[in-house]
Amino acid sequence: MAVLPILITGDPVLHTVASPVTVFDDALSALVADMVETMHAAPGVGLAAPQVGVSSRIFVFSWTDDDDVETSGVAINPELWITPTTVGEADEDEESEGCLSIPGERFPLRRAELAILKAVDANNEPFEIHAEGWLARIFQHEFDHLNGILYADRLEHSHAKAAAKAIRKSGWGKPQLSWMPGVDNLDE
Ligand code: ZN
Repeated sequence: MAVLPILITGDPVLHTVASPVTVFDDALSALVADMVETMHAAPGVGLAAPQVGVSSRIFVFSWTDDDDVETSGVAINPELWITPTTVGEADEDEESEGCLSIPGERFPLRRAELAILKAVDANNEPFEIHAEGWLARIFQHEFDHLNGILYADRLEHSHAKAAAKAIRKSGWGKPQLSWMPGVDNLDE
């Protein structure tokens, strides 16, 4: 297993619709294991294959809720059903989201409260998870990655402007920039 470099916004693979997985082999299992290790090293609660330069419909997730219940796994070729988002402005404290491909930044974004994830695992076994709250948010965030959408693309105007400014200031927004968990400390 290995920690992989994480691509930063601007690389084309992050802004491209990823392809379905068709071959379930050892190489896929190895990629999933590397993604899990990279997610934990970052550290993050989710990581999508395009973030490590692979344009495939795969994401990994690991979330521990307030009752210490951990939900983790890999979602391959996922489908996602979500409830409508409530109207109103996203709350800075309760709804601020971050992304390992826009490291160190957080902006508020309203998400659906409930989500149903249907996917297969690395053995092509189907599973389904009914999620709410932050886990539902993680699924929406990671699912978006597979369609070439970053959370910065969904922000309300004022936050979108602030995000664009932060990205520009960091010199991001161009191809082939990445950071290495455990080596680069980009959190602050
Ligand atoms: Zn992300």
